[in-house]
Amino acid sequence: MTDKQAKRSKFVVVGGGIAGVTCTEQFPSDQIVLLTAAPLIKAVTNFKQVSKTLEDFDVEEQPSSILQEKYPNVRVIQSAVRQLQAKEHKVQTENGEEFNYEKLCICTGGRPKLFTQDNPYVLGIRDTDSAQEFQKRLSTAKRIVVIGNGGIALELVYEVEGCEVIWAVKDKAIGNTFFDAGAAQFLVPSLETDKPERAVPCKRTRYTTDGANALSAPSGAFVISDRGVQNQALGSALGPDWHEGIKLKGAQEVSHRVHVEYQCEVQKIYTAEDFRLSQQRDSQPASEMSKVGLWPVYIQLTNGKTYGCDFIVSATGVIPNTEPFLHGNSLAVAVDSGLRVDDHMQTSEPDVYAAGDVCTACWEPSPMWQQMRLWTQARQMGWYAARCMAADLLQEPIELDFCFELFSHITKFFNYKVVLLGKFNAQGLGQDHELLVRCTKGHEYVKVVLSQGRMVGAVLIGDTDLEETFENLILNQMDLSAYGEELLNPNIDIEDYFD
Ligand code: FAD
Repeated sequence: MTDKQAKRSKFVVVGGGIAGVTCTEQFPSDQIVLLTAAPLIKAVTNFKQVSKTLEDFDVEEQPSSILQEKYPNVRVIQSAVRQLQAKEHKVQTENGEEFNYEKLCICTGGRPKLFTQDNPYVLGIRDTDSAQEFQKRLSTAKRIVVIGNGGIALELVYEVEGCEVIWAVKDKAIGNTFFDAGAAQFLVPSLETDKPERAVPCKRTRYTTDGANALSAPSGAFVISDRGVQNQALGSALGPDWHEGIKLKGAQEVSHRVHVEYQCEVQKIYTAEDFRLSQQRDSQPASEMSKVGLWPVYIQLTNGKTYGCDFIVSATGVIPNTEPFLHGNSLAVAVDSGLRVDDHMQTSEPDVYAAGDVCTACWEPSPMWQQMRLWTQARQMGWYAARCMAADLLQEPIELDFCFELFSHITKFFNYKVVLLGKFNAQGLGQDHELLVRCTKGHEYVKVVLSQGRMVGAVLIGDTDLEETFENLILNQMDLSAYGEELLNPNIDIEDYFD
């Protein structure tokens, strides 16, 4: 294809997830092209600023036509980007089109980091297709093994019903990415009791995709072509309520049956045949083999235990989707494989920006902020990247946005509201901190991280109503030494106190 055929656009955004769509929406008057691999895009709806930094919103999967109708300056092309030629300011798509840009923003998200590749019994959950595949296989499963200790694993083990779950975590406690051992202990009983009936209806509008591109009206269920578990199709990452509206039910009549194996990782995976042979080789008596039972796949953990199961879910994080952009360019990549970005969301290539899960924030962060590959940060980064692209084009100064002052995240785990603020797990503080904890079993768990008498982080589980007060205390860095443990005295109305 010659350069003559390349289409020109001031701004080009790659990726129709939350980061890319939010970025695109910030240019209401400029011609902008959004290139995306999947037929559906993700849009933020019902956005609410809960407090100075906490935000809450719903997510809608939409056909791209809705975005184009709302913003006539936006052109959405459904084709994956195959190559970036940064020096020529040009990207090429799989369908052979070329686009010249003045400013480019890469928002291609990530894909599951599977602990093993090409094993049909090992699934990753990332997008609608993989969630659908998971649901399908779960419906006939009696036992699954979940590997990983992040948000996805946490949600999964809680949501699955009618199937025994063996949950292998490498840490001493569950949910290590979000919690300390105390919070984990607060949550564990929820795994041992029946789940309450879900009263909340599914908040996210869904569209069915039947075949490659066909889109129909919103529907409560997906109809998605079966693309197989190892398919690396580039759909958007699912979001906070990914399991709502999908029945995660196995083949048994049990509610919860979760067994946690702590401080272990995967040693080896065996097919049924390999396992049988290995047992014969090791001269294991038939009685030993029958203890483990007959299963399609077996997993041996580093703690020496072996479990047979129907399949294994690998929920061990994501790998940023950077491949199409690296070849022939000098894009700096961080140790976690994300594209390094500075405080203007700019990569090491001029006029190339990145936002969301694909990037790694490499500026000197505020003492109360850290990057986590989360929904909220994808929105904030996409929004801020657009502002930087516009300001840089006009050579106007722009300051790092306030949302990067304080890490804040609001979510739900095990049916509890969870708010995380600042250095909620004393990240990077070493010994230089003290913790105050208040816990009422089955009701609330409140943890405050103090450093030199000032609040630097908090974990709030349950309806504590403390988020705004604590957010203020973290932001204003008031010296709280005089209050000591009274800070969490349930008989003191702390909200009134610090008002
Ligand atoms: P994505 O949403 O992954 O979007 C990437 C986009 O890029 C897609 O549209 C894709 O089609 C496109 N793309 C990829 N490659 C190309 C290419 N070469 N060319 C063109 N387009 C391309 N976060 C929370 O905050 N709370 C939660 O509770 C939560 N739960 C989660 C549960 C699951 C199961 C998963 C998988 C993630 C969860 N997350 C959660 C994380 C959250 O979904 C992500 O952080 C967020 O969606 C990232 O948004 P993004 O726009 O950067 O990337």
